[in-house]
Amino acid sequence: MSETWVRCSICGKEIKVGSAFYRCSVSGCNRKNAPFRFCSVDCWDAHVADKNHRSSECIEEVAPAR
Ligand SMILES: [Zn+2]
Ligand SMILES: [Zn+2]
Repeated sequence: MSETWVRCSICGKEIKVGSAFYRCSVSGCNRKNAPFRFCSVDCWDAHVADKNHRSSECIEEVAPAR
């Protein structure tokens, strides 16, 4: 059984503990109180289009256990 870690900032899909997720490389998108987390590269892509980032990278990470 896997626990939900967070929900995707774009589509709201659950990101489970121990599963891969994506984040934005722009520092303003990684604030502790409201970080952006994405379930897929597609959602990150939508975020980049939405925020008009000039240069941004998609960083793949694994959701940590609490
Ligand atoms: Zn998503
Ligand atoms: Zn961003």
